[in-house]
Amino acid sequence: MNSMIDLSAEALRVRVTQHLTYTLGKDKPHASLHDWRMAVSYSVRDLIIEPWFAATRKTYEAQGKRVYYLSMEFLIGRILADAMMNLGLLEAVKDVLDSEGVSIADVVEDEPDAALGNGGLGRLAACFLESMSTLQCPAYGYGIRYEHGLFRQKFENGRQVELPEDWLNQPHPWEFERPEARYTIRFKGHVGIVDGRPVWHPSETVFARAYDMPVVGWQGKWANTLRLWGAHPTELFDLERFNSGDHTAAAEPEALARTLSRVLYPEDTTDSGKELRLKQEYFLTSAALQDILRRFLSEYDDLALLPEKIAIQMNDTHPALAGPELMRLLIDDHGLDWDLAKRIAAGCLNYTNHTLLPEALEKWSTWLMGRVLPRHMQIIERIDQEHQSVTQCTADLGIVRHDQVEMGTLAFVMASHVNGVSALHTQLMKETVFAGLNRLYPARIVNQTNGVTPRRWLRLSNPALSSVLTQTIGPGWEDDLGRLADLGKHETDRDLRDRIGVAKRQNKVALSNWASDQLGISLDPDAMFDVQIKRMHEYKRQLLNVFETIARWSAIRANPQGDWTPRVKIFGGKAAPGYFVAKEIVHFINDVANTINNDPVTGDLLKVVYPANYNVSMAQRLIPAADLSEQISTAGKEASGTGNMKFTMNGALTIGTLDGANVEIREHVGAENFFLFGMTASEVQDRYQVDAHARQAILSSQPLQDILQMVVEGRFSPGDADRYNGLVNSTWNHDPFLVASDFDSYLACQAEVDRAYADPDHWNRLALRNIAGSGFFSSDRTIRGYMADIWGAESLP
Ligand SMILES: *Cc1c(COP(=O)(O)O)cnc(C)c1O
Repeated sequence: MNSMIDLSAEALRVRVTQHLTYTLGKDKPHASLHDWRMAVSYSVRDLIIEPWFAATRKTYEAQGKRVYYLSMEFLIGRILADAMMNLGLLEAVKDVLDSEGVSIADVVEDEPDAALGNGGLGRLAACFLESMSTLQCPAYGYGIRYEHGLFRQKFENGRQVELPEDWLNQPHPWEFERPEARYTIRFKGHVGIVDGRPVWHPSETVFARAYDMPVVGWQGKWANTLRLWGAHPTELFDLERFNSGDHTAAAEPEALARTLSRVLYPEDTTDSGKELRLKQEYFLTSAALQDILRRFLSEYDDLALLPEKIAIQMNDTHPALAGPELMRLLIDDHGLDWDLAKRIAAGCLNYTNHTLLPEALEKWSTWLMGRVLPRHMQIIERIDQEHQSVTQCTADLGIVRHDQVEMGTLAFVMASHVNGVSALHTQLMKETVFAGLNRLYPARIVNQTNGVTPRRWLRLSNPALSSVLTQTIGPGWEDDLGRLADLGKHETDRDLRDRIGVAKRQNKVALSNWASDQLGISLDPDAMFDVQIKRMHEYKRQLLNVFETIARWSAIRANPQGDWTPRVKIFGGKAAPGYFVAKEIVHFINDVANTINNDPVTGDLLKVVYPANYNVSMAQRLIPAADLSEQISTAGKEASGTGNMKFTMNGALTIGTLDGANVEIREHVGAENFFLFGMTASEVQDRYQVDAHARQAILSSQPLQDILQMVVEGRFSPGDADRYNGLVNSTWNHDPFLVASDFDSYLACQAEVDRAYADPDHWNRLALRNIAGSGFFSSDRTIRGYMADIWGAESLP
């Protein structure tokens, strides 16, 4: 069961040595860590090729449905370790490297994180690809091959500084360039009429070129393809200008084209509205659809069969041009009539909504859309006219409103299914932003609660706990995560509870060693590790956590001999470069950390760490070491969350609000094993109606008043007392995410957490119940749901 790959240690050694010698041209004594990593990566990659080809062959033979997952983001993280694990090769590779005096951990760490995403949305896409391969569902991921992924974060005097990310500066062993898979992407120009049909005369063109990465599933039975598009110029360079001496201008067409796949936009949940972003979205969508149609037409000749043979999933509205683009291709390039083209497009498309935050719902001005994509603007307007006349709806439910194209409405109208990502979020979609559309198109909205892959997020990142699980419930839980429920039967086994505690402690010791090496801070592994890692955003309420940290510090100082439960508060996360308040909160956390960590009175009773540059690899390091998971968003604002699920699987207990998937986590692990606090989504709505809600809450909370007082007095910003006046002011007078109103409830709940942690055996029992209840949150369950309810796709065993 260990490995699908039948390969002796000797055979593996030969493969690695061959790559080192013949692919990298290095003699062992001179091989660097990078050389070893490349040699191992190529050797492992070789072993994926066969299942990859086999999957393609089976897919063609079965003539089944193919799934196309369109996403502007794929936050894949490191690839090598994940591939070795799924192929069952971790031990074998370790042995080979050990015998060469090379550490497998160093080799793994040498790989840059592929950070082609911002956060949850991009990581979800990566988990989905892995689950689709594990489930042997024929699928392609389509995305953009950003030269620079999400920026690298560093801190200078506590402030966030952004550095460019450069993962492609070194050769990328996991991709295959496909020069033959190349499509022309058109922009701008005008639309004329020839023989009564519209003809688009673009004024700008670029090529989209394919780069393929195999994505191997659990036990190497199947591999799907992640196809990323790179932008290339249609004319390489302007020879005339070059010859006339203008060398810089001569390279302009090339530079212009490359810009399209140069950088990932770093906004997590805000709509930037920039022309380049619109072009990127169209670039991905058009390249993907041209590729999809080419593949379809290589097998079938009747385009009416398209909805039977393919399903397209739009990950948020970013690829929502798929509707008009598919119609354009069918009408303008393939000669179909409007009605048939529309029926076909609507039969293929589905849309996942990821947020209800109004600032995140994409809108493009009709002016910009008409200028960049004139033909699409025409198609969108006609789709809108038909939508409004068929449904007899009011203009406020139209696609084009106040000279803006509402991409959520466009995606909704063109989709067969529209899904939310947790039960609560789907419910709120129906009641709020999509209430009107839900009435016009009843039953179109469905729920698919998010999940995460237990291969990366449990088996790979937490080998200590994984062994305990396998010893207790037997092997095979990795692709049948519901079996974790069997742990429940062993709850009364004191020895098992101890071993769960020992595994956790082992991970905490490893993290402490890392913190000591990398951050120069010493942590007590017996303290509670309390972790909040996610993008910095006001609605996620890192501020609530920092305020509680200050209250705790202050309480310990007032009574240093008290019976305190030692804590390490761990923060991680990046702020969008233009998001002023989020960056202020980053600075504030660092200032608070600096003050607290240097206080001899509180000492090891309280530490605050905020390692810079949170990414997938850091998540893999921090989550297995967490005792407490902070999921404290304002109820109704977090669509699902997936970080929350990773923590639960790893035996961390959650302190959280009834928001997103927290609601379902609490149901699955049992309410008595979850630290709940704060207002519900509907109480939040009521609270917003209360005049001066923040002021009222602060005036009735002595601890919160004291905290805000310390902050304005400059306790955390010596020599710059005014630094956080804005933050404090906003807390008193605006508090858009109700930090003040939930503060007392949070404080009381944290005290309850302290009491529970003080009894280690009790805590381990709660941890066991959390692990046992986490099976539902495997992305395999989520993908099965999409296959059955949305795609009508089948596994091909
Ligand atoms: C899982 C994950 C996220 C999502 O975290 P949430 O807490 O759900 O917002 C973001 N970034 C990284 C690197 C992740 O691994």
